[in-house]
Amino acid sequence: MSWIEFRHVSFRYHENEPWVLDDVSFVVQSNESVALIGKNGSGKSTIAKLMIGLLQPQAGEIFIDGQIVNEETIWDIRSQVGLVFQNPENQFVGTTVYDDVAFGLENLAVPREEMTHRIERSLQQVGMLAYRDREPHDLSGGQKQRIALASVLAVEPKILLLDEATSMLDPHGTESINQLFRQLKREQNMTHVTVTHDTEEVMYADRVLVIDQGKIAEDCTPRQLFCRQELLDEYGLRIPFIVELTNELYKQGISLDDPMNHKELLDQLWT
Ligand code: ADP
Repeated sequence: MSWIEFRHVSFRYHENEPWVLDDVSFVVQSNESVALIGKNGSGKSTIAKLMIGLLQPQAGEIFIDGQIVNEETIWDIRSQVGLVFQNPENQFVGTTVYDDVAFGLENLAVPREEMTHRIERSLQQVGMLAYRDREPHDLSGGQKQRIALASVLAVEPKILLLDEATSMLDPHGTESINQLFRQLKREQNMTHVTVTHDTEEVMYADRVLVIDQGKIAEDCTPRQLFCRQELLDEYGLRIPFIVELTNELYKQGISLDDPMNHKELLDQLWT
């Protein structure tokens, strides 16, 4: 079990300024994968930060597994929820990649042997084990993002929040990391919230929340989103290639199943 509920949440960074989030309510079910999309400045990152208690709402409540997120519960919540930001620079604390991934585990008092196992496994998962003794600051943007992901995966969170966390990876790197997330969702029942502009990523979500000016403008499935050209145009989104292809074939009289039914097959095609 690892679900998230926002109940009538309103938030602003400064008094006397307009609300950044205005009476937002939604639930992300356990083991669900939800993509948050919307224009820059619509409030997506603010939602992610509220979920992990980095910010506190002025009105409304946020619950993780039914437990309210507030100053008293924050450490408990952070052992269950892993957040990876777009800019990994802000997240580095160790002098080597290994120490950096170790940091979160030391805070949780994970025994030494278990710690070594988790660090090596998570570095392996993101393809960075060979870099364990390197200085994080010397790595490329994409490699830094991989390390930031490894640090969060090592903690084995039940909920993974990704705020454009693969934006510096090349398409192949992004796809292999996304595949890892899908595997974790399947095998470890992880709940998954992703802030993204990437419609290939949206395609794999169970549900899409479109955020517009601090409100939920749409709550739909990826398929419903891809059928609404006006929404795609409004939010500057491109239909994923595979969806475009099957639509085109359909117009030519060749009917394929909904590509959403073939996620496993698509995974294989992409690797
Ligand atoms: P998104 O992730 O959708 O781009 P954000 O949640 O980052 O949107 O920002 C929502 C609004 O809050 C924007 O108007 C932004 O300028 C403002 N904002 C974000 N962070 C801060 C901050 N630390 N202080 C003041 N205003 C902020």
